[in-house]
Amino acid sequence: MLSKTLEEALNEQVNKEYYSAFLYLSMSSYFESTNLLGMAAWMRTQYEEEIMHALKIFDMVVDMEGKVDLKPIEGPPMKFESPLDVFTKTLEHERKVTGMINNIYSLAREENNYAVQSALQWFIDEQVEEEKSALEIVQQLKMIGDETTPLLMLDSKLGSREMIPEA
Ligand code: MG
Repeated sequence: MLSKTLEEALNEQVNKEYYSAFLYLSMSSYFESTNLLGMAAWMRTQYEEEIMHALKIFDMVVDMEGKVDLKPIEGPPMKFESPLDVFTKTLEHERKVTGMINNIYSLAREENNYAVQSALQWFIDEQVEEEKSALEIVQQLKMIGDETTPLLMLDSKLGSREMIPEA
């Protein structure tokens, strides 16, 4: 069972995960347009992961007898300045998402809803990974600066990323 408050918070999070998917798809198109195809592929995988996150929370609402409320998805920004700009925004966005997940977890704890706390644990661990990988790329892009050769090397490395299987 879900309280109205938790039901609303989870429905809102479904929407935010779909927004994340849109954001990364938009970033993927930026990399396509600048021929950084490894980074484009990385962002496309990120997009697929966010769809999976949205569905995982959707399933939580359904399984806990909540009412699903699918809201319109906000349009993501479509203009970016550079790879560093994109990955800095990725890191900022993931930190924001971590805050949202933490807020829902706090709500579940206040309400002694153990099932929601347990289901959210996966997301808490996932956010650590999301922030870690975005930060790593931001730092590497800062080291690379304006140099083309290391940028293309990083692009090729990011292109070899595989879809992380669902836990
Ligand atoms: Mg997510």
